Amino acid sequence: MSKLTCPSCNHQAMSNWEKLLLAPIASHKCESCKLELTVPFIGIALCMLPTPILVFMIPWINAALVMGLIPVSVCLSLFLVVNSVPLIVAK
Ligand SMILES: [Zn+2]
Repeated sequence: MSKLTCPSCNHQAMSNWEKLLLAPIASHKCESCKLELTVPFIGIALCMLPTPILVFMIPWINAALVMGLIPVSVCLSLFLVVNSVPLIVAK
């Protein structure tokens, strides 16, 4: 089951880009059943962890290396949001 699948109708609910614009306070209508969908806060928070972890490592590794790796960690976070966080029905 894709992480873009609607939990209600089991059809694709939105595109990858539309899912990236979701936040726990924002919702998006399923393309099939028009139910309001969102993502759980804890899922987004866990996916965003790589960047702060990298910043906290500055005292131990080269700061220039950290700056170079931040775009990589941001891309990793966006990839994780799209591919690992399930959609839930907004309340
Ligand atoms: Zn649906």
